[in-house]
Amino acid sequence: MTAAAAAVPNGRRSAGRPPAEARLRGISTPSPNSPPADPPAARAAVWSDRLAEEVQARIAQGPADRQIVCASGISPSGPIHMGNLREVFTTHLVAEALRARGHDVVHLHSWDDFDRLRKVPAGVDASFERHIGSPLASIPDPWGAAGSYAEHWIGEFTDALAELGIAMREVRQSERYPAGAYNAEIRRAMDLREAIFDTLAAQQTSGRHDKPLEQRRREYFPYKRYCSDCGRDETQVTAYDGESVSYRCRCGHEGSESLADGRPIRGKLVWKVDWPMRWAHEGVCFEPAGEDHHAPTGSFTVGRTLVRDVFGGQAPSSAVYSFVTLAGAGGKLSGSTGSAAVPSAALRVLEPAIVRWLYIRRLPSQSFQIDLSARGVQKLYDEWDRFVAAAQAPGADATDAAMYHLAVRSSSGAVASSARRVPFRLLSSAADLTQGSRAQIGRIVAQHLDDDAPAVDELLEQLEPRLRCAIAYVELLPDDARTTLRERFDAPTWEGLDDATRGGVATLARELSQAWSLDGLTTLVYAIPKLMLGLPRDAPPSPELKIAQRAFFKALYELMAASDTGPRLPTLMLSIGPERTRELLGGDAA
Ligand SMILES: [Zn+2]
Repeated sequence: MTAAAAAVPNGRRSAGRPPAEARLRGISTPSPNSPPADPPAARAAVWSDRLAEEVQARIAQGPADRQIVCASGISPSGPIHMGNLREVFTTHLVAEALRARGHDVVHLHSWDDFDRLRKVPAGVDASFERHIGSPLASIPDPWGAAGSYAEHWIGEFTDALAELGIAMREVRQSERYPAGAYNAEIRRAMDLREAIFDTLAAQQTSGRHDKPLEQRRREYFPYKRYCSDCGRDETQVTAYDGESVSYRCRCGHEGSESLADGRPIRGKLVWKVDWPMRWAHEGVCFEPAGEDHHAPTGSFTVGRTLVRDVFGGQAPSSAVYSFVTLAGAGGKLSGSTGSAAVPSAALRVLEPAIVRWLYIRRLPSQSFQIDLSARGVQKLYDEWDRFVAAAQAPGADATDAAMYHLAVRSSSGAVASSARRVPFRLLSSAADLTQGSRAQIGRIVAQHLDDDAPAVDELLEQLEPRLRCAIAYVELLPDDARTTLRERFDAPTWEGLDDATRGGVATLARELSQAWSLDGLTTLVYAIPKLMLGLPRDAPPSPELKIAQRAFFKALYELMAASDTGPRLPTLMLSIGPERTRELLGGDAA
């Protein structure tokens, strides 16, 4: 399970756990957005299927028709980012693999919103310090819109899950605990508190303690009561008689409550006891955990003992997952994606199927970075397009085919991915040059597709969701990365060019009409610098030629866009048409 919040991108819960340092298609022929039939033999190659095999082996002794519970959990203590998504995704994919094997599976997701607020994350008003120690579900939303602090982060995250094809049965611990759902288990833990103390003590590194072991054992209670007066958990249990518990708070308040069956309560088991209690209570068969929980003194290791000795259950099969981080702060798309790498920010610019693929293609134990910089997003689309082409090719690698299937479809249905994978570079350039005009983007893309293009309306439909991602991407680009075309021919720029370059530009202006296609214009703009060097049009590349080509392209950008870079030149020319291109290149002047 994993803790949200700035503090813990990767470990499951923050409360009660060590605050681990921040742990978190080229133009293709149109292909229908329906995934290929699932090749069962291929599935075994994906990591989630191996984990499903472990779960199957584990349940082999039990009743055949039992529903398999695969669990995940997040403490909604701050932005729930791409690292937390790995907790949910690992469980989701194992559940999917078990469903593919014919099992009845539920993905049970715990919102640990009855956890205490441990620290105020970046971006939240510092005055929220006063809520430290209170349950996340009892703190107001810092922005006043959602029902509570916890609700704010949960809402942002779960909106993204629907797009990603992840369906879960969600449980709020802020409802379960207070409703008395776990009272019998809490009493059991209280009765066996000395054994629990010994288990925890044995697995802890011997630190310095003010009090002797015997006294600490006597005073140990695995239950934390939230104070009825100040609302915080700075309380100590002072007495327990097998049913009623008395406590004293740091604020001076003293109180008591009954833990009898069905009685509402206002406290919870400490994390290391809470987790194994719920494995037993919910019959969890699979649950992943971040690296720190699987350490020798981690909560999973301790939980394995406690679930057996205290609650008469068995620890679930598990998988250790590693960090997911956002690549370097530099080169980020501007402001509105924010600094928190939450799934909804990634989904603004990435097709949902691509986000799924990021998690599918790597073993949970491999850490990875998501690069949402302008260049990083382009690169990711190029990688995905190459992957899909390979996965859909006849005789494709079985693992690729299986991973593709998992990316574009879940048991909830199809996951959005573009039926026509036009290069993201082209779509974003067209969005940039046309200020996001869909009709004009459609026209530019159609020109790139030549005879292959359907009617514009149909084309626009086939381009979604990539089209809206490209438009959002351009809106997020910093101003200096956007392209502004010149209104008219710029004489001073023309006069600043040397004779050879002017000659080259004139050749281009003269020949572009005959070359008016993506391929034709590409060949032409690369050939002209060869002519300028006295080489034949089919001369092979050389370092000298590369320098000349770069200088020539720079001159063309300056003439057309008052910049020394921009979208690919053929795209730029196709987007504005031959007449305007000729005019900006000097027309008659040249
Ligand atoms: Zn108090």
